[in-house]
Amino acid sequence: MQIKPIKHFGQNFLINKRVISNVINGAKLLKTDSVLEIGPGKGALTKELVKRVKKVIAVEKDQRLVDFLKEELKDFDNIKIIYEDILKISNFQFPISKVVANLPFYIVAPVIRKFLENPPAGGSPKEMTLIVQKEVAQRICAKPPRMSILAVSVQFYATAKVLSYISKRSFKPVPKVDSAIIQITPKKKHDINPDKFFKIVKAGFSQPRKQLINNLSKELEINKEELSSLLLSKGIKPTQRAETLSVEDWLKLTKKGGL
Ligand code: SAM
Repeated sequence: MQIKPIKHFGQNFLINKRVISNVINGAKLLKTDSVLEIGPGKGALTKELVKRVKKVIAVEKDQRLVDFLKEELKDFDNIKIIYEDILKISNFQFPISKVVANLPFYIVAPVIRKFLENPPAGGSPKEMTLIVQKEVAQRICAKPPRMSILAVSVQFYATAKVLSYISKRSFKPVPKVDSAIIQITPKKKHDINPDKFFKIVKAGFSQPRKQLINNLSKELEINKEELSSLLLSKGIKPTQRAETLSVEDWLKLTKKGGL
C-alpha cells in the first residue's frame, strides 16, 4: 500500500535490512522484555520486535500508519498499537523494560528528556536503543573537551554510546544527513539535587566561549577570588571552558563543599 510520507512527522522509513538487524541485535532483547517503540511507521523494526519479546507497545502519531500496522501485524497478540503523540503519554499501563526507536528528528531531545528526567510509572527503561541524526548522536555521546548542555543533561542520568553509523541511503525518502544508532543506559540516581546541578551547569555554559570563572561568577554572583580557589580545590582550572568539564567535574561543583 502506498502511504505518502509526511515530512513534518519526520517520516524517513528504514529500508536497509542490515541496519534493522544492527538495531535489533544492539538492543540485546530478552524474551521477557516489554518494549516501547516510538514511531513504528510501516513496521520495519516492529515486525522484528514482536517475534522476539513478550510485549511491544508501539506509539504512532499518524493515523494512516496505525491502520496499516494493525492490519500488517494482526496475527500477533503481543502488540498494542497506540494512536498518540509520544510526548503526551505518561502512563503506558505496563512497565517498559526497553525503548527502541528510529526517532523523528524533531522530538529526539524531548523524548530522551522525558524518559530520563520523568520516567514513566514502573521506572526508567533499562536501555534505550535509538536511531538519531549523526551530529545529534555525537553531541549526546561527547566527552570533554566537546561537552554541551545536551551531553551533560543526558550523561547526568545515563551512559550514552554510539553503536554504529548509518548512511542516509538506508532510509526512504533519503534524509539530508546520515544517522547513528545510539544506546542510552540509565544509571543509578545521584544523591544530589538535579535543580542545583543544572543551575550550575547552565551558569557555566551561559557564554560557552568564555572562561568558566567569568560565567560562574557573573551568573551565580560569586566573587572571583573565592571562586578561583574553590575551582582549583576541585582540580578545575578557572580558565577552562565549560565544554572541557566532565559530568564528574560538575558533580564535584554541586556536592557539599562545592558552589
Ligand atoms: N520506525 C519506522 C522505521 O524505522 O521505518 C519509522 C521511523 S520514522 C523516522 C518516525 C516515525 O515516528 C514516523 O512513523 C512518524 O509518523 C512517527 N512520529 C512522528 N512524531 C511522532 C510523535 N510525536 N509520537 C509518535 N510517533 C511520531
